[in-house]
Amino acid sequence: MNEAELVLTHILRCDRMSLYLNKDTGLDKDKSVILSSILKRRMLGEPVQYILGRCEFMGLEFKIDRRALIPRPETEILVESAIGGLRDSGNARPRVLEIGTGSGCIAVAIARNIKGADIWASDISQEALQLAGENARCNNTRIRFVRGDLFDALHPEDGKFDLIISNPPYVAEVDFSSLAREISFEPQAALNGGRDGLDFYRRIITGAAAYLENSGSLMFEIGMGQAGVVKRMLENEGFGCLSSVRDYNGIERVVSAKKGMF
Ligand code: GLN
Repeated sequence: MNEAELVLTHILRCDRMSLYLNKDTGLDKDKSVILSSILKRRMLGEPVQYILGRCEFMGLEFKIDRRALIPRPETEILVESAIGGLRDSGNARPRVLEIGTGSGCIAVAIARNIKGADIWASDISQEALQLAGENARCNNTRIRFVRGDLFDALHPEDGKFDLIISNPPYVAEVDFSSLAREISFEPQAALNGGRDGLDFYRRIITGAAAYLENSGSLMFEIGMGQAGVVKRMLENEGFGCLSSVRDYNGIERVVSAKKGMF
């Protein structure tokens, strides 16, 4: 749906087709007042998902507010790759760890699609974890949420994982000024990947082996132009079976690798 459709279906509590099929839209006085207050906020640059307090991701409904980054459509490619990999593995009870879960959309979408999975999700932000918890409940999923800076959220007795997945902050500091003004409404800690945008890949790739089963997978969303250097980091840390998936713009968006001897 485009933004106008999102706003109107929200106010009129109808689906997209009804906007076009019903002659009488039911936009009475009260609803017009709501519409103009939404439009005022939108004109000041606030993203439509924050104004409406919700968004759709992987066909599921998520509660969204300024506690976490807004789920991006390209992140569905990361989730689809993870679901595909987990199904192909034949493991009915895979253990999955998501690092930096934010709104929880990745962990929740995996939980909904891989019923037997034991899913853990971490974040450094308590506020984000609260939102993620609300989203896990609304979507009837059970996820273990843990708070901490990357792997600090875990203890050795928590065991190892078959998949570690992350969409970490990956925007380079120098690129911030050129981003859309909508981005300034989002938590900067969820976007800022340090000087070259790669800080979190460095830290996750060096720390991951200790938390992965042998031949367990590490899977990332990456920013435009980051695939080559992230793959090199993975190889230097002894990961193998490297692969990547392109998004609908032809940009390499997902990189994955396996721990083990190859
Ligand atoms: N895709 C986001 C953007 O375009 C960045 C998300 C991230 O840093 N993980 O700004």
